[in-house]
Amino acid sequence: MIEERLKKIICIPVFLSALFLFLLLPSLSQAEPGAENSIDVTDISFWSYPHYTRIVVSLSGKTLFVKKHLANPDRLYFDIKNSHIKKELKTNLAIGNDMLRSVRASQFDENTVRVVLDLEKIKDYNVIHLEEPDRIVIDVYGSSAEVSTKKRIVIDAGHGGHDPGAVGPNRLFEKDIVLDIALKLKKILSADPGLEIYLTRETDVFLKLEERTAIANSKNADLFVSVHANASPRRDARGIETYLLNWTNDEEAMKVAARENQISLKKMKRMQGEMDVLGVILGDLKRDVKRDESIKLANYIQQMMINDLSKSYQNIVDHGVKQALFYVLFGAQMPSVLVEVSFISNPVEEKLLSKEKYRGSLAKSIASGIARYMSSSSDVQTVAGVRKSLDSRD
Ligand SMILES: [Zn+2]
Repeated sequence: MIEERLKKIICIPVFLSALFLFLLLPSLSQAEPGAENSIDVTDISFWSYPHYTRIVVSLSGKTLFVKKHLANPDRLYFDIKNSHIKKELKTNLAIGNDMLRSVRASQFDENTVRVVLDLEKIKDYNVIHLEEPDRIVIDVYGSSAEVSTKKRIVIDAGHGGHDPGAVGPNRLFEKDIVLDIALKLKKILSADPGLEIYLTRETDVFLKLEERTAIANSKNADLFVSVHANASPRRDARGIETYLLNWTNDEEAMKVAARENQISLKKMKRMQGEMDVLGVILGDLKRDVKRDESIKLANYIQQMMINDLSKSYQNIVDHGVKQALFYVLFGAQMPSVLVEVSFISNPVEEKLLSKEKYRGSLAKSIASGIARYMSSSSDVQTVAGVRKSLDSRD
């Protein structure tokens, strides 16, 4: 089980890249934190893999961070302003992989918590700030010595466990529908010997959004596809859309991302606004090649879903490829998309989603989209393998 392979631990404090230093400045200027507004560093978790480690520092509220890289010995430290270490927090975590020896936290002065990453050898690192709850996500990358001829795909079934996702008018749960589609998708794609398929979850368990991306990065995946069902207060809303990570001015797209991120639309808009105003670009979005590939992947999946389903079902509505800031796509190191397969809030589409056949058609069409994408890439050997195995299933 993937979950069992995660070395998950608890405890310690905070960090921040220059990016988020900028991001946080506007809110600080609105409410200069005083001692009474001091925040706690409540938890530190990490997921350690051979060439990749994700560290998540949880906070009781928003605050300012500064970071510094020091040599001899090599270490990164993050000073979290106006913060205190929660009493029960474990302040020294041994990691012990090729990139990191440990993570330490201490009360540096009266109002500053310092978190230190003791480094071995790292290639790169990246910092992301997520809200509700406030948390800092630090990705550390080592050199990938592994050479695989197989293509790896990570399929993410949204939600799970105590999080049902969107709930239909007849109490159909998004978490159950998307898990079934993901399992079907895995079965179809696994028929190709040139592919290795992983699911972020194979049962009804809860995973944090940042853990899902961590799994994809840890597998050195070539593609990441997150599967969801849509919802709207408008009961007549229906159709299919596929997303990639980027800013958007589209109110509806922002609403979808806010719901999937489990934050309010107001926060969603503020997050976008702060990035816009300050001209800050997320590390992820700078990687144009990956974005182009994500657009291509999204288009193939969307097209195949619309084409295939329209053959057997009436009124399949094509909302096209869209973009928005989805937490689950932040930090993904490979082309990545989020598919909203239908509206579970629409009584007709809820009924369709409850049918095994419709879910099978959705899985098959997503698989076809992935196959088309891969056959369009330059890797001719994989192309032939994928096409053959998927075409033969028609
Ligand atoms: Zn969802």
